[in-house]
Amino acid sequence: MASEVIPFSREVQFPLKGCLPDPPSGRTIAEPARQAPVIAECDVAVFGGGPAGVCAAAAAARAGKRTLLVERYGCLGGVSTVAWVNMIHTLYGTDRKTKIIGGLPEEFLRRLQRMGAAKNRAADGETGDWVICSETAKFAWDDIAVASGVRLMFHTWLAGAVRDRRRVTAALVESKSGRGAIVANTYIDCTGDADLVRRAGAATTLGNPDGKCQAPTLVFRVGGRGEKALALGQVQAELFKTTMDYNGERYPCYLWGNAGIWNPAEQMMAAARVLNVNAAEQGDLTRGELEARYQLRWILGRLKTLPGWEKTYLLDVAAGLGVRETHRIVPEQLLKREDVLHGTIFGDTIAQGTYPVDIHAPDAPGIVFQHLDGTSVTVGGDARHTRGRWDGEPPDAPKRTTLCWRVPYGALVPKDLDNVLAAGRCIGADHAAAGAVRVMINCMQFGQAAGTAAALLAPGAAARDADRPALRAALRAAGAPLL
Ligand SMILES: Cc1cc2nc3c(=O)[nH]c(=O)nc-3n(C[C@H](O)[C@H](O)[C@H](O)COP(=O)(O)OP(=O)(O)OC[C@H]3O[C@@H](n4cnc5c(N)ncnc54)[C@H](O)[C@@H]3O)c2cc1C
Repeated sequence: MASEVIPFSREVQFPLKGCLPDPPSGRTIAEPARQAPVIAECDVAVFGGGPAGVCAAAAAARAGKRTLLVERYGCLGGVSTVAWVNMIHTLYGTDRKTKIIGGLPEEFLRRLQRMGAAKNRAADGETGDWVICSETAKFAWDDIAVASGVRLMFHTWLAGAVRDRRRVTAALVESKSGRGAIVANTYIDCTGDADLVRRAGAATTLGNPDGKCQAPTLVFRVGGRGEKALALGQVQAELFKTTMDYNGERYPCYLWGNAGIWNPAEQMMAAARVLNVNAAEQGDLTRGELEARYQLRWILGRLKTLPGWEKTYLLDVAAGLGVRETHRIVPEQLLKREDVLHGTIFGDTIAQGTYPVDIHAPDAPGIVFQHLDGTSVTVGGDARHTRGRWDGEPPDAPKRTTLCWRVPYGALVPKDLDNVLAAGRCIGADHAAAGAVRVMINCMQFGQAAGTAAALLAPGAAARDADRPALRAALRAAGAPLL
């Protein structure tokens, strides 16, 4: 079944200013004071049901804590399901022999593997990166949460926090049922955007040192791709040659994707990328969603002119823009670029990974990778690769042999709050370090560590006082091969 591309309508004027409300005038009104009903009381309350949130909640519940998970959408998985990002990185170190990740991240992959919905890209079927089916991933996330005894609240937004000095005393949520309060001993912020920490009035940092965030991307899938279709790098180069119909600009790419694991003629494409968007700001996010769909329509039209892509048709568009970066907590211990690239060893390591520093330019086409082996690659809008070294060594110098980088527990602890932890892409890392640790295999580890730490805390204890050796022992006992 081939469908025609719906062309861009000339009635639409870019930039998309007219479709947003006028900027706020500065006027305010007083909201009437009111009593919020306490709708749940628990030991651990987790906000955001993405890869980090599910693992945080499952870890706390498995440790016997009454655990609640609050999610604004109707399914779990965050970017892995709602934004259709279907690549999970390796469980192994850079030598591809030493297992450095286990626990809940591995459990997620093995559950999917048993459903036939995860395939490893390495020849040995084990040591490489994994491609998953994002729709089936919804089932795996459900199973992990439900089987662990997590209580779930879907279609519920974290909207506020009540704070008494350094402690959060209640989280305020909004749903179709109205406003409610959730009271817990420990709160874990897995919203990606540090919503809970910000609502509690604690400090965060936004994006890069200029306050600009990595560009978000709307993922979509097409069917009908020919067997010998032009490779995605060449597709990007072709798209970059012409200007886009809707705004006359160059395609602000980095384009990548994966063929479907059940049907290789189906292609996931992380291709509609929008610039200058702070996805934690409602107006920017609205503009970003709209612009990404206009861009997607242009991409589909151009795609049909490229060899092997002529018969492609749109299968589906992710339910929301995929967000790479917004706010991160100001932590007890900041993870820095040097820590990642040089593999700093911490006494309280709670997670390990190998993913490179990966920065999508916030306001221009292109992407930069800095790998643990000392090499760097810049991919331009035209898909040209410029290779170099980030460590200042000559190109032919031996490659570095760092097995993995590590994340300390202190990066999950907001400096200004006692009974709050953060996990996922909003942990306390600088812009470059966040570019490496933000991928899902890592966010899941942070979640498991945060949930385990929350379960170890005595009522009234501060998160920074967690027994770190006991935390590491518990993570090891749960399958994390911490070095
Ligand atoms: C286009 C794109 C491509 C990427 N490619 C890869 C890749 O190939 N491999 C990889 O591993 N990673 C990739 N990443 C990064 C990765 O997907 C994210 O960094 C990761 O999903 C972050 O996990 P998280 O749990 O911290 O946040 P998210 O996955 O963003 O989940 C946050 C959850 O919190 C919920 N939430 C947010 N605010 C609220 C609120 N106020 N109240 C209630 N719920 C809330 C959201 O609905 C969501 O379910 C990519 C990201 C993007 C955008």
